[in-house]
Amino acid sequence: VGFQKILTLTYVDKLIDDVHKEFRDKYRNQFQQKGTLGLLNGTFDFKDDFLRLLRDAEESSKVRAPTVMKTFEQSVKSQKTVKCMIETRGEKPKEKVKNKKNKGSKKEGTEAVAAPGKASAGDKQPSAAGDREELTKDEILQKNREEFFKRHMKAGEKSRWVTRARSLYSSFKPALPGVPQPQQMFHNSPPLLLCSTKKGGLGGMFGMLKGLVGSKSLTRADMDPVLEKMKDHLIAKNVAAEIAVQLCESVAKKLEGKVMGTFTTVTSTVKQALQEALVQILQPQRRVDVLRDVMDAQRHRRPYVVTFCGVNGVGKSTNLAKISFWLIENGFSVLIAACDTFRAGAVEQLRTHTRRLNALHPPESHGGRTMVQLYEKGYGKDAAGIAMEAISYGRWKTGGGTCFFREESCLRCLLAYPARNQGFDVVLVDTAGRMQDNAPLMTALAKLIAVNAPDLVLFVGEALVGNEAVDQLVKFNKALADHSMAQTPRLIDGIVLTKFDTIDDKVGAAISMTYITSKPIVFVGTGQTYCDLRSLNAKAVVTALMKA
Ligand code: GDP
Repeated sequence: VGFQKILTLTYVDKLIDDVHKEFRDKYRNQFQQKGTLGLLNGTFDFKDDFLRLLRDAEESSKVRAPTVMKTFEQSVKSQKTVKCMIETRGEKPKEKVKNKKNKGSKKEGTEAVAAPGKASAGDKQPSAAGDREELTKDEILQKNREEFFKRHMKAGEKSRWVTRARSLYSSFKPALPGVPQPQQMFHNSPPLLLCSTKKGGLGGMFGMLKGLVGSKSLTRADMDPVLEKMKDHLIAKNVAAEIAVQLCESVAKKLEGKVMGTFTTVTSTVKQALQEALVQILQPQRRVDVLRDVMDAQRHRRPYVVTFCGVNGVGKSTNLAKISFWLIENGFSVLIAACDTFRAGAVEQLRTHTRRLNALHPPESHGGRTMVQLYEKGYGKDAAGIAMEAISYGRWKTGGGTCFFREESCLRCLLAYPARNQGFDVVLVDTAGRMQDNAPLMTALAKLIAVNAPDLVLFVGEALVGNEAVDQLVKFNKALADHSMAQTPRLIDGIVLTKFDTIDDKVGAAISMTYITSKPIVFVGTGQTYCDLRSLNAKAVVTALMKA
């Protein structure tokens, strides 16, 4: 069944139909009484029936094979075809109804015949060869019509085996919740994958052989059409155009000259290589583990400082608040530095978040400790200066003296400086949104980062944008390098990819951003509540990206 294009078994359609009918009729009562669950757990004594049906089907195909062609005039079919043509010329909607009816009647027929099913099978055997031939022609006619309509229906794009196999399950009762649906099992069934029709693929035997590379080595010419399609697919998924081209190029270079295994198609080989490349891109060498790093800073009795930057409206403040919530939930106290001293309402926005977060985590639930506080100096002031003050404010107050070991386990420290008044575990620095091309504002950002030396510089970017996100990220990174006075300038360490909930499966921005800078995506914003923060699942993103 899987290799119909190579070896055509003429009786397969008939066999599947016969098995369908016989199986359903034999176990009809069992299905009705036990339901689907019973069916899934049951065992079926159907082997002998199947072998009999297979024998019958093989026999019938042998009988049919040597049949000598009749002339058109001799053929009864000629009359029927004319009749059919007259019917087809009638009103279109009627025709559809008629055919639906025909299909239905076939179904109904099979069900109606179901009760005396065994008798009908018995009837067939002693019938004369001529009768059988008549019946077969009817069946062929019916099948041809069915196939014609299938081809013209939308669902007809799918493999006819898929449609057929579905109809095998169609009479099952719906499964109980949690019980795998037959359709689900069927979707995973490997042999069916072999024969699913490809949209716009090369048709027929020739096309199939062309797709099978066998043990030949891959050339650029083999891959080019597939790569072209892949490139368009990636762009459609919001991968920046230039990056889609580069990605396909690197896949081509990797595969060129490679020997394919038998029955491996160029498409599947290229797809797999691309998939691997994408997963690799999303799993950069340097991972950022914020909680571990915060604990590390704690051991050194200092706050862990994070700076957020990006253009306006991408979600810097909102995601800063979400990250605050996540840190507090993990037991760390947070000081928010309101360094967007430019945009009206920016400070108030952070104040509201702080109030809400405090309501969710009041000091009473944390042994009197304030878990989140806002450090603000209003508008129009120097942002770098406010960030510095905030970091200083958030510093652990140990009451004097610095222990040589600076370790949490240092007994002397614990005894000498047991309390930390006002100290915060983390300082989150919000900055004003700025366009990547605005040189003075970029210089100001570079200064803020150079002066305060944060532990982590996060670029906040929307998943909604394609090429634009890459441009922003590249220019922010470059500006930090160009406008920094330091010899080894602090660049962007990681990405917060926001509004991931709004893009469906157009996840290309994730690829573009990580590919171009090799910076990891540290957080993913997936909505507008404090809980809508995730880490990136590289495999899931790649799956969404590859999905047709
Ligand atoms: P900022 O100017 O960069 O600070 O952006 P804001 O934090 O003010 O966010 C701008 C808008 O984006 C607000 O309406 C947010 O609610 C919204 N927003 C932020 N993050 C997300 C997200 O992950 N998903 C969705 N759907 N909206 C978001």
